[in-house]
Amino acid sequence: MSQTDPRRAVPRTDTLLASPPLAAAAQRLGRPWVRAAVTAAQDRARRGEIAPDEVAEAALRALPARASSLSSVLNATGVVVHTNLGRAPLSDAAVDAVVDAAGYVDVELDLDTGLRGRRGAGVLAALGEAVPSAGGALVVNNGAAALLLATTTLAAGREVVVSRGELVEIGDGFRLPDLIASTGARLREVGTTNRTHLRDYTDAVGPETGCVLKVHPSNFRVDGFVSSVGVESLRDLRRPDGSHVPLVADIGSGLLAPDPALPDEPDASTVLRAGATIVTASGDKLLGGPQAGLILGDADVVERLRRHPLARALRVDKLTLAALEATVRGPATPVHDALHASADSLRARAERLAVALGREVVAVSGRVGGGGAPGVPLPGWAVEIPVAAVERLRRPAGRLPVVLARVDDGQGLVDVRCIPPSRDGDLRKALEAALGGDELPSQTP
Ligand SMILES: *Cc1c(COP(=O)(O)O)cnc(C)c1O
Repeated sequence: MSQTDPRRAVPRTDTLLASPPLAAAAQRLGRPWVRAAVTAAQDRARRGEIAPDEVAEAALRALPARASSLSSVLNATGVVVHTNLGRAPLSDAAVDAVVDAAGYVDVELDLDTGLRGRRGAGVLAALGEAVPSAGGALVVNNGAAALLLATTTLAAGREVVVSRGELVEIGDGFRLPDLIASTGARLREVGTTNRTHLRDYTDAVGPETGCVLKVHPSNFRVDGFVSSVGVESLRDLRRPDGSHVPLVADIGSGLLAPDPALPDEPDASTVLRAGATIVTASGDKLLGGPQAGLILGDADVVERLRRHPLARALRVDKLTLAALEATVRGPATPVHDALHASADSLRARAERLAVALGREVVAVSGRVGGGGAPGVPLPGWAVEIPVAAVERLRRPAGRLPVVLARVDDGQGLVDVRCIPPSRDGDLRKALEAALGGDELPSQTP
């Protein structure tokens, strides 16, 4: 190596780590992460890919903004509850509650008495107010956990009676029958795929029945010669000894009250009033909150579930309790706003963007997503972009936000529905950068 060999000029690790910007990054991200970025940048300089005096800058550029590898994403797909993007984005109220709860917090302490308090009392009260027909409430890890706890408590070693038309697979190969079988309960399937009648249930109910389960087939529709039995007809099923058979209704998406925009989507209040003993639901679908499983209904049955040893293994942490209470009590959620945005307001936003970028707008149909309301179209508007720009939006240079757009029929689409209007400026900057790249036509043919 000669005196002039640039490899000799590569700055030493200690010197780099002591420089103010990298020292600040180490405060934020931890030293190992920064050291790894420094080493990688030094290697690039030794290979001659960058100049020695660019090492510090290259290391800084390679570091993430936060000490988590999760990247925040602007959702331009038009799919509101997007499972691959973490389902529901939290409201500002829920985010603030999470930040407060992140430190020491009175989650199990009554500050008035100084004695131990009931964990999650605030969110349970909020759920009780939102669903007056629920005598009791319980929050667990997710919708699957809620169903697991309900069927284990009510039917382990006995039978769960369920219609063949409701034995659903939710996503990622997750099947309800497998979940129920894992609890030690036996599935007693009744009816056929397309039709189940009341007598199918009454014939099946016997001394071995632990509960009857109604599952909302949330992610598909069966049309044609179909019939199913409503909750109101199943509320009073009895075993031969006259004892009442509990009716568990898995409503899926977590609406607490009816939403006129989603007429086929069941809600907890209506289903409980119709006679379900308990309902189970997710917190991060249409409720628009954090991942959680809600159990609402008969106070005694909810208490039995709460006392089951499994409940401890399925319980949620303080961050979830905080976010969920703020979601239930607080202002309209981003999921609600995205679902109910008017086509006119979406068009106005898409047109402002399109004019600034020299592009065109197109009418599109958004989706509820999250395996919910499959038949419901959401009329909206998107800015059309070349497919190559869709790729660039997903992996932007520098500190621009990541944007997930979609490709439909060979056309790139930036649907504004699920972008908070306050982020339209960020979206425009990301689009300018993605469209400004070389070899992109200003209009697709
Ligand atoms: C989504 C869903 C579940 C599972 O809920 P998770 O919160 O994802 O565990 C169960 N049942 C139905 C009907 C659903 O739609």
